[in-house]
Parts: sequence; C-alpha cells; structure tokens
Amino acid sequence: MTKKERYRGVIAWFEEHMPVAETELHYEDPFQLLVAVILSAQCTDKRVNLVTPALFEAYPTAEVMAEATPEAVFEYIRSVSYPNNKAKHLVGAARMLTTDFGGRIPESVEELMKLPGVGRKTANVVTSVVFHQARMAVDTHVFRVANRIGLTTNSRTPLATEKELIRHIPERLIAKAHHWLILHGRYVCTARKPHCDTCGLVPWCKSAFKV
Ligand code: SF4
Repeated sequence: MTKKERYRGVIAWFEEHMPVAETELHYEDPFQLLVAVILSAQCTDKRVNLVTPALFEAYPTAEVMAEATPEAVFEYIRSVSYPNNKAKHLVGAARMLTTDFGGRIPESVEELMKLPGVGRKTANVVTSVVFHQARMAVDTHVFRVANRIGLTTNSRTPLATEKELIRHIPERLIAKAHHWLILHGRYVCTARKPHCDTCGLVPWCKSAFKV
C-alpha cells in the first residue's frame, strides 16, 4: 500500500465515522481554553474538567488571574499533575497576557509560545481550536497513533511528526485530524493494549494485530 492510499483510507474512515471531533476540555472563551490546555499537560482532560469550573469562577479573565498569587491558584488545581509549576505558569501567562497583549489571546504560535507554560503543542491547540488555523498539535497520542498506523515513517520527534502529517493531510482537515488521532489514541489505539479487534482502521494500519 502506498502512503497516499493509506492516508486516503484513514481520512475517509474518520470522515465517515467521526464527522465531529472536538476537544474534550470544557471552556467558554479563548482564555479558558488556554488555561485548560496548560493544565492538561501530562494530565487527563477528565481531571482538568473537574477543577476548571471553580478556577474559572474565581479567575474569569487574564486580568483577574494576573492579580492572583501562584499559591492562591494552586489551591484550585492541586489535584492535577504538577500543580506547583502549573500554578506559576498560569499566573505568569495571565500577567504577560495583561501587560503585553492587552488581555487578549495572541493569534500566532510564535507569540503564544512566549507565554510561560506554553510550548508548541499548546500553541497549536489554541490556534487551531480558537482561531481555526490549520495546525497539527502533536501530543503523545498523536505521536504514537500516527506512527503505528504508518502515517509517519521516520518522524522521531513531535515536530517532525507535525510536519509529516501536515504534508499529507488536506489543509481543511488538519485541525480536525488532530482530534481524530487523539480520540483514537485515547479510546481505541491505547498505549499499552491497542484494541485492534474493534478498530476500523485495520485495512490501512501497518501495525494491526502486531503491537
Ligand atoms: S489497527 Fe490496532 S494498531 Fe492499528 S490503529 Fe487500530 S488499534 Fe491501533
């Protein structure tokens, strides 16, 4: 099977079976999404969704959070992973948003990456979800699933994976493909034991029943 055929088959399957694919993080505006994505690093979306309602109620905007101390924010997020660091990042990001960006979420990956706690993956998620840019955020699920299926071949880093996927996926589907791969990795092609017996991608997957 050529790579082109593999991409065509996988994309067609996802378009038919997962026409709607969105982030599972709960948010109501760009600031809340940024906060939720920062909190989701090395943590489950489910756990993040448990802490964000009270956090957003206490700190509804970047301006309000900028006035807080990391210690105060910590109390709201203590059950997520790395709460100390994340509390510092959230307050630092809120302060920079307020002082350098007028309280608004910047629209470019480069500007977003200036914020504390925001790496390329987080910036790609925010720009694709909020601003509908054709960005491919590569997290551990996307990295693993793309490699297992054979969508990527020699991509050994998240950045190389991002570039390889973007080269082959039609621009209009790139942001959605990010969610397809994440959700597939979360619920079907799981890290330890992929569920090949129930996976619809078997005809195009180079690792089917081999992991
Ligand atoms: S066939 Fe198996 S290895 Fe391939 S994507 Fe599906 S679950 Fe993952």
